[in-house]
Amino acid sequence: QAKSNGRHQYVMFRAELQEKVNARIQIERGLRDALEGNGLELHFQPQVRSNGELVGVEALLRWKRKDGRLISPDSFISVAEETGLILRLGNWVFSAVFAQAVLWQRQGCCPNRISINVSAWQFAQRDFVEQLLTLQANAGVDSHRFVLELTETALLQDLPETISKLQQIRGAGFQVSLDDFGTGYSSLAYLKDLPLDELKIDKSFINELAQGHSHPLLESMIAIGQHMHLGVIAEGIETEQQRTLLEQMGCQIFQGFLYGRPMPADQLRQWLADGSGRMPPDDGDS
Ligand code: C2E
Ligand code: MG
Ligand code: MG
Ligand code: MG
Repeated sequence: QAKSNGRHQYVMFRAELQEKVNARIQIERGLRDALEGNGLELHFQPQVRSNGELVGVEALLRWKRKDGRLISPDSFISVAEETGLILRLGNWVFSAVFAQAVLWQRQGCCPNRISINVSAWQFAQRDFVEQLLTLQANAGVDSHRFVLELTETALLQDLPETISKLQQIRGAGFQVSLDDFGTGYSSLAYLKDLPLDELKIDKSFINELAQGHSHPLLESMIAIGQHMHLGVIAEGIETEQQRTLLEQMGCQIFQGFLYGRPMPADQLRQWLADGSGRMPPDDGDS
C-alpha cells in the first residue's frame, strides 16, 4: 500500500514539474517573440510631492501577449534572469526609456526625473556601466533626469565592485535609488558605504500603516534616510491617510494608486493635462 502510494506521489510530482517546465518554456518563447516583435511596452507611474507637484515617474515594464493581455514583470523577470534574456530585456528598457524621454522633450512635457528598474543580474555584468553609457550616448539624452532603482540583492553581491560601479554611474550624472528598502535580510552597516541618492520604502510597510498605531520601523527607515541626507520616497500609497501619516514621519515623495496607476506615455500626458498632476518648470536640458 505504502509503496504504491509513494509511486502515485512520484507520478504526480513529475506531472507537476513537467507543467512548471512547460510554463517556463512558454514564457521564455513569449519573451523572445516580444523582444523581436513589438511585444514590450513601458508604463509610467507618477511620483509626487505632498503639494501634488509631479517629481518624476517610474518606468514599469509590461509584456503584451498575443491575446492582448498585459503581464507584470513579477511573473516573468525570474524566467528572464534564469535564461539570460534579462540582459536583452534590460537594454531594451534603457533604450525605450531614453527614446521616450527624447519624445517627451520634443513635446515639451518631459518629467524631471525618470526612474528605471535594474535587475540584480543585469547590474552584475562586468560591462554594465559601459552598456548603460553607450545606450545613453546613442540616444543623446542628458543623464541627470534618470534614476536607477536597484535592490539590496543587486547591491550586496560584491560590495567593492558595487561601490565602484555606483561611483561611475553617479559620476556620469545618473542618480541611484535603493528600491524595496527594508525587505532585504542584510545588516544596515552596508548603507554608509554605498553612494546612494534615495531610499525607496517598500509598499509592504505602507500596507500596514494605520491611524493610532505606532510604526517604529517606518519611522526609523525614514529617519535613516534623513540622517544620511538621502531622498525618501514611499511606494504603494493607496489612501490619503497613509500619505498624511508618512508625511508626518518626514517622507517627502509619494507614489501609488492614490495619485495614479502605471499608465502608457500618452495617458500620462493626458493625466498631466487634466490637472491630475502639476508639472513643475522643466529643469532639464531641452
Ligand atoms: P517595484 O520596482 O517595487 O515597483 C512597484 C510595483 O508596485 C509596481 O508593480 C507597481 O505597479 C506597483 N504599485 C504601485 N503603486 C501601487 C499601489 O498603490 N498599490 C499596489 N498594490 N501596487 C502598487 P509592477 O509594475 O507589477 O512591477 C513589479 C516589479 O517588477 C517592480 O517592483 C520591479 O521590481 C520589477 N520591474 C518592473 N519594471 C521593470 C523593468 O523594467 N526591469 C526590471 N528588471 N524589473 C522591473
Ligand atoms: Mg522600482
Ligand atoms: Mg519598489
Ligand atoms: Mg517593491
